[in-house]
Amino acid sequence: MTDVPALELEGWAARYATSGLRLAVLPLHSIRDGRCTCGGAACKSPGKHPLTRHGKDDASTELTQVTMWWERWPWANIGIRPPAGVIVLDVDPRNGGDTALERLTRQHGLLPPTLTARTGSGGQHIWVTYTGQARGQLCRGVDVKSVRGYVVAPPSLHASGERYEWQVVMHPARAPRWVRRLLAPPSLPVHRSPSTGGGDCDAGLIRTVANAPEGSRNQILYWAACRAHERGSPPALLAELLAAAMNAGLSESEARQTIQSAVRRSQVGAV
Ligand SMILES: [Zn+2]
Repeated sequence: MTDVPALELEGWAARYATSGLRLAVLPLHSIRDGRCTCGGAACKSPGKHPLTRHGKDDASTELTQVTMWWERWPWANIGIRPPAGVIVLDVDPRNGGDTALERLTRQHGLLPPTLTARTGSGGQHIWVTYTGQARGQLCRGVDVKSVRGYVVAPPSLHASGERYEWQVVMHPARAPRWVRRLLAPPSLPVHRSPSTGGGDCDAGLIRTVANAPEGSRNQILYWAACRAHERGSPPALLAELLAAAMNAGLSESEARQTIQSAVRRSQVGAV
């Protein structure tokens, strides 16, 4: 484990708040003797949850506030709430995020050089600019963090004993077109009827499409889109199916066509 003097954490927090990006920071619990400083034996988010009452809503760019926090908790990990117009792709290798992202970049092109941190679990936080609505996930194992949440920042201490560290320090680059397309909700002609809910079933459909083997992707997507239609074609579910199909290797136009024909066929069948 790298030992970072407490003063350095305060220094980093202050640097983020006063940087050109004016990043809002918040103090988080840390790891001591292999456990979260909250003391909870069953803590679900060791070293990652806020020390302040309102969590991400307390995040501040005010130097006096930031200094006060780290004087009170010199060991505190640092959370950053991404500013509006900036998102962070949270690549988690434990959930296959690294291979899923690699597959996407092979298909669509590399991500541009941009602000990047290595996380304490061996993943990456890739910062890019993106405006508009962002879905919660780019692909399997790659969550999207925005102003609605926060990320743990270097040199915070991870439960593994590793520290987060910057790999590339620069202004965040613009998200490439394919990333923007994957993040944007698709505009599909949908037949609306009351949704019957069923989050678990939805997750199952999305997983099935994401893991569809080559040769049967279209068929499986078609089947999933029909099931989605039976549930009232919730736009969020169709968006997830589209992203899952693209993640599985279908082109966007192919996937959209398949979903649309499933929706059309189900509408005809319903008349
Ligand atoms: Zn905890």
